[in-house]
Amino acid sequence: MGSKAPARSDPGSPLDQPLQWLKGVGPKLAEKLARLGLHRVGDLLFHLPLRYQDRTRVAPLGALRPGMEVTVVGEVAFAEVVMRRRRMLVCQLKDGSGKLELRFFHFSEAQRRLWRPGAKLRCFGEVRSTGVGNQMIHPEVEVVGKTEPALVEETLTPVYPATEGVHQLTLRRLSDQALAHLDQVEDWLGERYLSEPLADLSLADALRYLHRPPPDADQTLLLSGEHPARQRLAFEELLAHQLALRKLRLASARLRATPLTGRGGLEARFLAALPFALTAAQQRVADEIAADLQNAAPMMRLVQGDVGSGKTVVAALACLRAAGSGWQSAIMAPTEILAEQHYQTLSHWFEPLGLRVAWVSGRLGAAQRRETLAAIAGGEARIVVGTHALFQDDVRFSALALVVIDEQHRFGVHQRMALRDKGRDGEIHPHQLIMTATPIPRTLAQTAYADLDLSVIDELPPGRQPVKTVVLAEARRAEVVERVAAACREGRQCYWVCTLIEESEALEAQAAEDTAAALAEALPDLAIGLAHGRMKGEERDRAMQAFKAGDLDLLVATTVIEVGVDVPNASLMVIENAERLGLSQLHQLRGRVGRGDIASTCVLMYSPPLSEQGRRRLAAMRETRDGFRIAQIDMEIRGPGELLGTRQTGLISFRVADIVRDKALIGDVSRVAARIVGEQPGLADRLIRRWQGDKARYRLV
Ligand code: ADP
Ligand code: MG
Repeated sequence: MGSKAPARSDPGSPLDQPLQWLKGVGPKLAEKLARLGLHRVGDLLFHLPLRYQDRTRVAPLGALRPGMEVTVVGEVAFAEVVMRRRRMLVCQLKDGSGKLELRFFHFSEAQRRLWRPGAKLRCFGEVRSTGVGNQMIHPEVEVVGKTEPALVEETLTPVYPATEGVHQLTLRRLSDQALAHLDQVEDWLGERYLSEPLADLSLADALRYLHRPPPDADQTLLLSGEHPARQRLAFEELLAHQLALRKLRLASARLRATPLTGRGGLEARFLAALPFALTAAQQRVADEIAADLQNAAPMMRLVQGDVGSGKTVVAALACLRAAGSGWQSAIMAPTEILAEQHYQTLSHWFEPLGLRVAWVSGRLGAAQRRETLAAIAGGEARIVVGTHALFQDDVRFSALALVVIDEQHRFGVHQRMALRDKGRDGEIHPHQLIMTATPIPRTLAQTAYADLDLSVIDELPPGRQPVKTVVLAEARRAEVVERVAAACREGRQCYWVCTLIEESEALEAQAAEDTAAALAEALPDLAIGLAHGRMKGEERDRAMQAFKAGDLDLLVATTVIEVGVDVPNASLMVIENAERLGLSQLHQLRGRVGRGDIASTCVLMYSPPLSEQGRRRLAAMRETRDGFRIAQIDMEIRGPGELLGTRQTGLISFRVADIVRDKALIGDVSRVAARIVGEQPGLADRLIRRWQGDKARYRLV
């Protein structure tokens, strides 16, 4: 395989052709395949099997065990149509070593005639137990000649991620066609950039192996992703990702921004009025930000800080730098509740300094909205708070110099890019500060966010009482209710969080309403409020506000309260069905208590039996409150998909790589990325294009 002609960028390469170029693909199928992210022939090569079937040998009927997915060959001993609850065709197959029952609910007359006693059938399917023997329900069936040798496959059979209307057989046929052009896939890395054992495996070999593994391939190893063939792909994908982020970063460095120096003594006045002193970590991060803001290139900084580490005040300091020189800042929160909370906190801090804070919310009346937008467009509003609605077209800033994105894990990379462009004014781009409580370990963060500088607030404000965490079975609910009553008697407030496994807001809301009603009955003296995702925004806010103001003793809520809500007097949190939540989510929820100087408790209620994962999660919650440690354990227990997935963090999802599983590759990937940028910048572009396609996931500005 040569390494001269850049095959994928050559428009004549079969791999670059649209899928309709393949046999059997018309516009309809092409459209369905597009839903799987498949657009060009080459995409099929990177659409990897989820698992494999072994059709390489015939299993004797006497050796079948329930759960096996196998090919069997036997003679039909008898076949009859029976009426049980429904009409079905039952056949019995025998091969001298044993018997197998076949059941069909859908069958044609022709099939019934073919599958008669004496016929020899080859079937593929999953073996189930009938209690007295084994059966297959609706196996794939072929009639074979009496003397014909039983034909089997030469490789393991791939099972691909599919979608409605796209069958495995179709995907297999298409991947066969794509694999026929594997010789077009050049190996750009080879021994020059790879070390053993990956250097031995060309990209084409790795792809062939993954699509059509030999019969003796170690399936467990293949599926765990630790097989060298997968690692070879993962390496290259991580490399392309690194190169793309590096490129993005270089491009950012060439953009222009307004240097913000923080004149006007606002910062000193602000700090003097603040009821607390900054922690050393807050001070350090604030200094790092201040240094960035003085540059004429836009800041691109990510601040990681555990729940309650005090990120808001750090963001406020950055806004003050902008405000002091007459510039505007925008603060974007992931939810209305959080936006409102920021609005209140910041108004409280900034209005005494003569700075106007504006709040853009879907819930403003028409007149209010007009007035707010006018204040933003006119520049009187120096700090503007809102959700992503902030970047709707009718919100025009007069002098935007800084964009703060809070709880970044709710925003995707695309949104981050879109935002930067929205806030742009001619050649001038706003500075960007991104804040997240998702504490991913530093090396991972550097890989995932290689386009950003990192700051970590690794210290909690002093005087925080650690939250005591108690794990209790659901059966002890009465005790928990008594704890709630006791805490409220002492003038404290409590959260009661209802969760459900279904991703159904409606069911979860119902559970919260039922629980609230039951608790109101059990605790008639308490003022109980309700907050869930099905309530009208204002209604829910009213409940949250009443809780914040201390008018409610107990707030029954769904996970809508997850992020950022700050009520220092709340000292007890009860989480129902805690075993069903991920660690990071539990940690975020628990962060709602222990925000003041009172001793707080978090009760994790679970319904037995606990799964092994559930048990480990609850144990981890009891043992540590260090967000970084918790993130680490979370990743060990359930893999990064959920923690680092697009949904939670806005990180890109990789096709093959897994940033946690493949973390051993990361050091090499960074070194190779640096070398390629220096030695062969053109190769960097080709790698990015190979892995990220034409619809570049990153706008390479
Ligand atoms: P998060 O990092 O989760 O966004 P917040 O900014 O909401 O945290 O801060 C949590 C609470 O801690 C707030 O009530 C805030 O006023 C308080 N706080 C922040 N910094 C300090 C500090 N240095 N000393 C004492 N309390 C602080
Ligand atoms: Mg916060």
